[in-house]
Order: sequence, then structure tokens, then C-alpha cells
Amino acid sequence: MNTPAKSNKEQKTNRITQVDSAPSRVQASKEKNAPQIPNSSDQGESSSHSNGGGNKGKASRAEASRRRRGDSNEAQWVKCRNCGKLIYKQHMEEMLFVCPECNFHFEIPGPVRINTLIDQGTFVERFSKITPQDPLKFSAKKAYKDRLNAAQKNTGLKDACIVGEGEMEQIPVVFGVSDSRFLRGSMGSVVGEKICRGLELASELSSPFIFVSGSGGGARMDEGILSLMQMAKTSAAVSEFSRQGGLFISILTNPTMGGAMASFAALGDVIIAEPKALIGFAGPNVIRQTIRSEIPDGFQTSEFLLEHGFLDFISDRSELKAEIVRLLRYLHLKE
Ligand SMILES: [Zn+2]
Repeated sequence: MNTPAKSNKEQKTNRITQVDSAPSRVQASKEKNAPQIPNSSDQGESSSHSNGGGNKGKASRAEASRRRRGDSNEAQWVKCRNCGKLIYKQHMEEMLFVCPECNFHFEIPGPVRINTLIDQGTFVERFSKITPQDPLKFSAKKAYKDRLNAAQKNTGLKDACIVGEGEMEQIPVVFGVSDSRFLRGSMGSVVGEKICRGLELASELSSPFIFVSGSGGGARMDEGILSLMQMAKTSAAVSEFSRQGGLFISILTNPTMGGAMASFAALGDVIIAEPKALIGFAGPNVIRQTIRSEIPDGFQTSEFLLEHGFLDFISDRSELKAEIVRLLRYLHLKE
């Protein structure tokens, strides 16, 4: 749920995900190879853009392209917000967006998550036509409608969650992921509905349901009671799925907070988390103010929750697919 700390946090997340979520830029620079130090600016001049003819359109295109390359030089380096070290972005990307220095797991875009967990070419998105509405005509600092439009434009997604069918090492699964780039992965009506339909589909297909949560935003308060209702709705859907013998594996990534954590994300038959992920309900400041006492070190991290029996295990991102597949095989699901 939203907390007073939201605006700061949101800015921070946006900043980081902006850098994190530009694989295309990184790819473009990868083709030209050669790691660049942030301020070097000579690359633009030497590359093959010099066949520009006299016309004005071409000249302005070349200028735009030069500017883009300047941006991409800066975007090739990112400061780890856990250890503070400067990381070469291409290296981090090869490590699946994990800091090579301290193993901090950055947020990754939903489509990248699908590529890392689902067998190549097997993912088919479902329920993609469900789009968010603004029934309350809600407006805070910005109108919800404008925030939605901006998030849709920035991410290419209609809402914060992707659900579909795919295979993991040839085992059919129904798979979903919430994307923290989209309004902090918050759960509004669309996310809730897609999770419920995903569970129903998994039940129909007798497949396991696997959902990767990256919902730092919790319930989407722009949708008021309609977003809060998703907590009860998804919890009831998980319960019904479970009653029918379905297997739900919930994967908690940084950050999973608020209404998402207080409903479906905490209801997996097996709950796995990535290392050092922030997982909880209200933020630490809110809790500190409410209970008026200090909270333990490492509170609301995967490691703390594992120690206190809330998680089944923690898995590095590079091992996650193998761990899930091992689990699916162990539980004798059809292959
Ligand atoms: Zn680090």
C-alpha cells in the first residue's frame, strides 16, 4: 500500500529502472563493442554515420543519433545501490542484472524475466486484452489516467502483469510476472484479474502456477477499494486452486510489499525468494513509527524471513530455473 515515503521511493525506483530497463540501448552499444567510460565522447565521431548527404533531414537524424549515443555512453554504467560500486552495465546484464560485486539482485523487466525462466519460444501470453480503467477518475499529484498512459508508453505493457502459458525444461506451466517498472508493480484490477484467470487456466490444464512478484507498490490505491478487493479475490482464487490440488509456486523478488505480499504472494505452496529482496507489508519507517521501537537488523529481507520460517528457500537468479524445475520434477508433475 502507499506509504508517506512513496514519492521518494518511487523516484528512486524510476531512476534505477530507467537505467535497468534499457536493454535495447545496451544491445546497440554491444554491437559496437568496446566498453566506454562515462565521459568519453569520441565514439560518435568515428563511427559509420558519416555518409550523411547534404539534406537537412539526414543531418538532424545524424545529430539525434549522436545524442543517443552520448546517452548510451552514460547508461553503460550503473551504481549498485547496495554496495555503491560502479558496474559496467553489459557485464551486469550478462549476469542477469545481478551486481557482480555484492550479488545484489536488481529488478528486471517482466519480458526479461520470462526469457530467463521459460524455455525459448514456448511462452504464449494470455489475457493480454484486459486493460486498466479509471472508474474513480482518481487524481493525486498526477491524474491516474496520465500515470497509466506514461507507464504504458515507457514499458510497452498494458498493465503491471504478464500471464501466459509456457514450458520449463519441457514441463508445461502457467506463468505470471509483475513488472516493477509499471507503477511499481502495484496490484490493480487488471493484475488481480490476470492472476485469477491464470490460476483458473492452470487448474483447467492441470499445470502448476508460477508467479514472480515484483510488486513494491502493493495494492494500487489509485483504484481505491477496487484494488483492495483484489487481495481477497486473488486469495480466494489461490485457495480454490489449492482445493483442486493445484501447485502454486510463489517467487518473491525485490521488492514485494503491501497488498501483493498480504495476499496471493504469501500463499504459495512453495515460496522462494531472491537474495536480499525487500519483502514485507508496510515499510520499515511506518512500522517504527507505529510500534515506537527499533526493528531488528535485516528486517524485511529474504534472509530474515528465511530464518523466521516464512520462506522455503532463497535462490540466486542464475539458479532459479533449475531450482523450480527440480521442484516440479520432485513433485511428480507431468512432463
Ligand atoms: Zn553491488
